[in-house]
Amino acid sequence: MENSLDAGAGSITVEVDAGGTRLIRVSDDGCGIDRDELGAALSRHATSKIASLEDLENIASLGFRGEALPSIASVSRLSLVSRLQSAECAWRIQARDDAQAVPDALPQGTQVEVLELFYNVPARKKFLRTEQTEYRHIESLFKSMALSHPAVAFRLLHNQKVIYQLPSVRTADDQRRRLAAICGKSFADSLIEIDASADNLQLTGWVALPTFNRSQADMQYFFVNQRMVRDKLLNHAVRQAYQDVLFHGRHPAYVLSLAMNARELDVNVHPQKHEVRFRNSRAVHDFLFRSLHRALGQVQPEQQIESPGFALADRFRQPAPQQSGLGLYSAGTGDRSAMVRERMQSYAALLNPRPGAGPQPRADETIPPLGFALAQLKGVYILAENSDGLIVVDMHAAHERIVYERLKHNAEAENVIAQPLLVPVAFNVSRAEGDLVEENNDFFSHLGFQVERLGPEQIRVRAVPALLKNADSEQLLRDVLADLVEHGRSQRVHDYQNEMLATMACHASVRANRQLSLDEMNALLRDIEQTERSGQCNHGRPTWKQLSLDQLDKLFLRGQ
Ligand code: ADP
Ligand code: MG
Repeated sequence: MENSLDAGAGSITVEVDAGGTRLIRVSDDGCGIDRDELGAALSRHATSKIASLEDLENIASLGFRGEALPSIASVSRLSLVSRLQSAECAWRIQARDDAQAVPDALPQGTQVEVLELFYNVPARKKFLRTEQTEYRHIESLFKSMALSHPAVAFRLLHNQKVIYQLPSVRTADDQRRRLAAICGKSFADSLIEIDASADNLQLTGWVALPTFNRSQADMQYFFVNQRMVRDKLLNHAVRQAYQDVLFHGRHPAYVLSLAMNARELDVNVHPQKHEVRFRNSRAVHDFLFRSLHRALGQVQPEQQIESPGFALADRFRQPAPQQSGLGLYSAGTGDRSAMVRERMQSYAALLNPRPGAGPQPRADETIPPLGFALAQLKGVYILAENSDGLIVVDMHAAHERIVYERLKHNAEAENVIAQPLLVPVAFNVSRAEGDLVEENNDFFSHLGFQVERLGPEQIRVRAVPALLKNADSEQLLRDVLADLVEHGRSQRVHDYQNEMLATMACHASVRANRQLSLDEMNALLRDIEQTERSGQCNHGRPTWKQLSLDQLDKLFLRGQ
């Protein structure tokens, strides 16, 4: 595909059979190859893209090492058909036998056909994953090519079925359609457009609103001079720009293109050319950070998440009146004390199976390890007093840990209760995600979900794990799917169960800025005491800290 783009193609078709193991065919309408040069195109380290030393310092093409065709030809049956515009007919050459070029029929352009990949390298062939997995790798490369080259029309077929058909982009509407086709409609609906320039740098593209965040870094496309890169410096600048609007552990989604003078850039530092080196990396980093930070800062309040720094909050789409308690419980109407009592009961039932749990009277009781709640600080911390002094609890982190351990325990005991949704939720996913839902249905029920596929790109959730019944079920499932895409398929899925449960726990946890009553706080403290590993949240941060009287005395130089 890179060769086709280098050849100035206006349209590229990729056909794949059996995940590419049987056939990969790339056809383009680019400039074509002269009959006399077909042999050279297949020989090692031969390229038409570098003519002088000068060119080497100013690389404008995607290829330049002359490695792709000969390497592929050495591990497959490869044939090359090409026709210059001026030629009378096309010519075909077969790699691996010294046969001469023979006339062939092809309109203008080039077609490279790769059959039986690794047929002669059985050891390598053994390492091919399933057809679906290999296909997904191809699809993901295809997507990044299509995102970085909007003017070019692309088609992808798998097993003769058209999967993507992307006309060339001429208008803003076309662009939106292409983004939606590749990244999904919900991404295309929550974008901030970026268009910034400084000195010799230009940054264009889209970043998703912080509320559209991901549990995996799986929707991050960065192009430098239309080449897909995964570069630490660039990643760092983007992360930093999102820092105060994105919750810890979540990943932003973006499609960004940086254009710069090729002389300012070395693309020849990485075998797959994934990393690049900038002549002035500091300036690139600063420019990127500043442009994105400014754009994210201009997000209007109505687009904005409820509590900055806490992108999780928007997952709880249920109406959230001022006094609604823990995120776990539906916010009913009615008088507050009854509501709290009801919540306390369900809280105790969910997380505290032992009898007599729940709000505890203070009088005449031995003081429990984490003591009794005094107050809530800034909607984030619970302050409590125990026999040693002061306890400070990060309530979100602690609650997340409790829910996680609980989910894990239930899953291990095969005791997950699925809660049917009153109204099943249908939504759109990518075809790959749809496949995953189908392939892993048993695993989903094991986690407490009932999900079905409605169409190639639509699924419906009928039930969710009872512990998470009040989380946003669409967002919850999207995140589990993103984890699945990341970790691969069926057999391996169970190895990653805990990571998925952690993702899920995140959804159910008390959000910041929720007012809790003293009883609710005490119930949470008791739960922390009951929960294994409760000293740390799932992201490894501490969930609570003790400040002993001694330490407090020192702070105030008492008794010295
Ligand atoms: P590189 O892209 O680094 O030059 P390749 O092995 O990928 O090396 O390709 C070798 C040469 O074959 C290219 O330099 C180009 O001249 C020619 N070539 C390959 N694919 C195409 C194509 N689709 N259209 C026109 N020329 C092509
Ligand atoms: Mg090439």
